[in-house]
Amino acid sequence: MVDNLATGRVANIADLLDDPGFAFVEHDVSNPIEVDGPVEAVLHFASLASPIDYLNRPIQTLKSGSLGTHNSLGLAVAKGARYLLASTSEVYGDPEVHPQPETYWGHVNPVGPRGVYDESKRFAESMATAYAQVHAVPVRIARIFNTYGPFMRPDDGRVVSNMLVQAISGIPLTIYGDGSQTRSFCFVTDLVAGLLALLDSDHEGPMNIGNPVEFTVAELATKVGEVLGTDVAVTHMDLPVDDPRQRRPDITLARTVLGWEPTVQLAEGLAITADYFRQRLADDR
Ligand code: UDP
Repeated sequence: MVDNLATGRVANIADLLDDPGFAFVEHDVSNPIEVDGPVEAVLHFASLASPIDYLNRPIQTLKSGSLGTHNSLGLAVAKGARYLLASTSEVYGDPEVHPQPETYWGHVNPVGPRGVYDESKRFAESMATAYAQVHAVPVRIARIFNTYGPFMRPDDGRVVSNMLVQAISGIPLTIYGDGSQTRSFCFVTDLVAGLLALLDSDHEGPMNIGNPVEFTVAELATKVGEVLGTDVAVTHMDLPVDDPRQRRPDITLARTVLGWEPTVQLAEGLAITADYFRQRLADDR
C-alpha cells in the first residue's frame, strides 16, 4: 500500500502492519513509483476526495489524478499488471440526466472550484483508456458514488461524517442550502465487494459502483436522528458553489455484468459508522 498520508493515517491500518503479506510505503504517487518483484494488480485510489480537501489543495488534487494516474499506469505496464482506477460520480458533474448511466457524458464546470477533482478524474479515465489501447493494460474503471463508513476522518467535511459527529456531540446538524439536493450513500463494505468483483471481471469501460437508493440531504439529517435515537436540531448554511443538485447511480451494468448490488441499508450503515465515531471521539479526547 502506498499513501502520502495527506488525509490518511497509519492508525487506520494498524491491524495490517504486522501481516507479512502487507507492506506500507509512504510516498506521493505524483512522483514515479518503483516496486520490487511481481505485481498482479495496481489499484489507483490516491486522491483527496472530500470537497473541502480538494478546494484547499487544488494543485495536489490535480497532480494525483493526472501524474499519479500516469505513474501508476506506468507501473502496471512494467509489471504486466491489471489496473483498477477509482473514478467518481463527479465525472457527471451537476447531472442533467437522472439517474446517471455510464453512457452520460456529464455536466462539469472545468474552471469552477470542483473542477480540480472532476477534471483530474475525467483525465484519469482518458489516460487509463489510452493505456488499455496502446499498451494492452487490462484497465477497469469504477465510478464511485458517495461512500461512507468507519475510518473516515471526523473532520473530513463530508455530509455523513459531519452529521454523525454533530449528532453525537449534541450540536445542530449543518444542512447546506435548503437540503433538497440528493445523494445516494453506499456503505464501504458494499463498495469494496463491488470493486473487487469489477477488478476480477473482464469488463472494459467505466462502471458505476454505488447504492441506488436516493435521499435528500434533509432526509439524511432525519435518518441520523432516528438511528442515534436523539432529537436533532438543524442549521442551514450556504450551498457550496457548483454543488450537484441530484445524484443517483444507474447500476444496471454492475448488476448485469458482476451480479453485484449493495446490501447494507442506510440505517444499518449509519449505526456502524456512528459506533466508530463515538469510539474515535473518545480516543481523541
Ligand atoms: N452537505 C451538507 N452538510 C454538510 C456537508 C455537506 O448539507 O455538513 C451537503 C453538500 O452540500 C452536498 C451533500 O451534502 O449537497 C453531499 O456533500 P459531500 O461533501 O458529502 O459530498 P459530495 O457529494 O458533494 O461530493
